[in-house]
Amino acid sequence: MDMKQVMKDYFLDLDQAAKDPNRKVAWCTSVGPAEILRAMGFEVFFPENHGAMLGATRVCMDTIPKANAFGYSPDICSYLTSDVGAWQKGITPLTKAYGIESIPRPDILVYNTNQCKDVMHWFEYFANEFDAPIFGIHPPTHLPEVEESHVADVVDQFEDLIKVLEELQGRPMQPEDLKKTVALSKEATDLWAQVLETAMAKPSPLSFFDGTIYMGPIVVLRGTEVARDYYRVLLADLKIRAATKVAAVPGETKRIYWDGMPIWGRLRSMADLFRDNQACVVASTYCNSWIFSDFDPDDPLPSMARAYLKIFINRNDRYKEAYIHKLVDEYGIDGVIFHDAKTCPNNSNSQYNLPARLRKAGIPAVIINGDLCDLRCFSDEQSATVIEAFVETL
Ligand code: SF4
Repeated sequence: MDMKQVMKDYFLDLDQAAKDPNRKVAWCTSVGPAEILRAMGFEVFFPENHGAMLGATRVCMDTIPKANAFGYSPDICSYLTSDVGAWQKGITPLTKAYGIESIPRPDILVYNTNQCKDVMHWFEYFANEFDAPIFGIHPPTHLPEVEESHVADVVDQFEDLIKVLEELQGRPMQPEDLKKTVALSKEATDLWAQVLETAMAKPSPLSFFDGTIYMGPIVVLRGTEVARDYYRVLLADLKIRAATKVAAVPGETKRIYWDGMPIWGRLRSMADLFRDNQACVVASTYCNSWIFSDFDPDDPLPSMARAYLKIFINRNDRYKEAYIHKLVDEYGIDGVIFHDAKTCPNNSNSQYNLPARLRKAGIPAVIINGDLCDLRCFSDEQSATVIEAFVETL
């Protein structure tokens, strides 16, 4: 299955849905309860995916200043500022990519602060712009352990969300629809986990930079047959590549863990930099964030609550440290690179002594400064120097 076609079909269908009075569109955060929305018959749009497109195409460099001038600080999430600025300028990378004039009009916006609170401000802006209803899931955050009381709290909020959606759709939730959607999500996310695990092979058949592209369907199409089928094909292909020792980085000699956000506008040059240094980024916090092993179609709401509470970004530092140790062992990693993203402290894990603790435990670690979208915060030369010197020492 061709990845480009999968994403094109998704966006074209979303565009049609937004123009069709008989169909409804929900906006959702990337680790929000997409399964509930799909089971209730909504097509789902993910503004973070749009933010990543604005970053990867570097269109954001024209749109972030617009949002800054409007009063959104350059220090807050640059997905938010990229996206708000793009809306204010009346542009979207969907036009060049797919001939789509505008982002889809929402019938409801649903955010989950399990990742950060910027999504709440972001969705509130667009709820006002479209005069559309908004619903927030506010779970317990930064958890050492996910307790049953936390799960019950989130299930209560999911049930309130379902009542709002039922009102909008004028029909009740069918339990079978939710069960089926969670089953499809579970299949897709398990396949995604296996896709990432093929990087345990030496040499690795895929790198973090491939993963940031392959992850499209698990972000925007989970709960659908399309996502499941896409990962079946991709996994089979990667297994063959691993078995025949086709390397993502020819001559791989070093294996790296990447923590933090991608630098969307520099994916290609960063991939080249690592390749030129025979270093393969074989695992990352970011790509692993869409592994939701807890999904259970026989227990949909509690299992969704558990899965969306357990995500890395929503855990305490001790959990994060243990998690990185585990992946370093499993993937045979030589060193860890922390991307300290200026506008996303939520997904930058270098600021509270974690690299120093890893080093103390014998794991080499280094920090580079940058950002997910705002390239004003990133220096190509400086980061290349730091990365090359780091790889050299491993
Ligand atoms: S986690 Fe970071 S990048 Fe994602 S929405 Fe929040 S602030 Fe933005």
